[in-house]
Amino acid sequence: MAGIYIHIPFCRQACHYCNFHFSTSLRYKNEFLAALLKEIELFSEAEGSKEKEPIETIYFGGGTPSLLLTEEIQIIIEQVNKHFPVEPDAEITLEANPDDIIIQKLEGWKQAGVNRLSLGIQSFFEEDLQWMNRAHNAIQAVDNLKFALTRFPNITIDLIYGTPDLTNEKWKQNVEKVIALNIPHLSCYALTVEPKTPLDKMIRLHQSPGVDSDKQSEQFLLLMQWLENAGYDHYEISNFAKPGHRSQHNSSYWQGKKYIGFGPSAHSFDGKTRWWNVANNNLYIQSIHNNILPVEKEVLTTTQQMNEFIMISLRTMEGLELDKLQAIDPKAGIKDQILKQSKKYQERGLLEIIGNTIRLTKEGKLMADGIASDLFVD
Ligand code: SF4
Repeated sequence: MAGIYIHIPFCRQACHYCNFHFSTSLRYKNEFLAALLKEIELFSEAEGSKEKEPIETIYFGGGTPSLLLTEEIQIIIEQVNKHFPVEPDAEITLEANPDDIIIQKLEGWKQAGVNRLSLGIQSFFEEDLQWMNRAHNAIQAVDNLKFALTRFPNITIDLIYGTPDLTNEKWKQNVEKVIALNIPHLSCYALTVEPKTPLDKMIRLHQSPGVDSDKQSEQFLLLMQWLENAGYDHYEISNFAKPGHRSQHNSSYWQGKKYIGFGPSAHSFDGKTRWWNVANNNLYIQSIHNNILPVEKEVLTTTQQMNEFIMISLRTMEGLELDKLQAIDPKAGIKDQILKQSKKYQERGLLEIIGNTIRLTKEGKLMADGIASDLFVD
């Protein structure tokens, strides 16, 4: 079993670019918490006498899990432990915003069992944070990160590049700060304009420039070079880690392991079936109150399983292992088809074929999704 994901659907304020599921009202926080605890119990009961696989990771995402009281985090972890065999050395990550970093919370999370923090820094520049409508400022970004490191050396931070005011020089300064602070893991995302977000509206009303994809590509190439020079492994397209500091939870997703998601909008996967909770706090609470798990399901066909494998594995440092792909459907003869289809990208220097494995080059990573979908099985 890969692990358990817990979605906390509350945020202090709405970041302009965000399309995750969250509410800025904490009015129904207690009802949500009661529903979450009950969902864990209902799911466990529904599994019946099936032997449960050991849980290697727990991940609190959102939303902003650091908005909860540390006692509430502790109660959720206790509930998971009550219903699942959690490994004693399980990785337990909590996403936190820099404005929530205070000594009481850091100590409380540790006591609850959290052993890895994921901090949503995004930028160390005030004007960028304001443009994103982040709840924290530039001073909190650096001071609270340093403070968090004193209690949680196992830390990861998020940064965003390709924002309108982010010059290559500012981007360099952001990344240099991470390297200087010896942050062991970071996730870097190109700004994307998701439909119906405030950013989407701002661009349509000409209140903000649109995304410059050439600048994003340039900043991604620079990022890869800077972090490679600083000793980070680029182990997934958006993720970089010092040796021994890869995210175990996210790595499990990329290895196609099973996971269970709890909370509104949370997704689950058992290798063949994917299911997801309703992305609405009230409907979620109501459904659980009526003892009904609020899920929709999709059973993946073999073709979908193969395409998902292509998409995910091409994004990783290990690349696409053709024998593993072929094992999903030994009859399909897929290996030769993919090799033939890959040649044109190999000739353009976008991927390498090493034995039975296909790996994207740095330039290929700029077009990862496009190459993956071109290799998809019909
Ligand atoms: S804090 Fe995170 S989840 Fe909440 S609005 Fe901002 S980006 Fe989205």
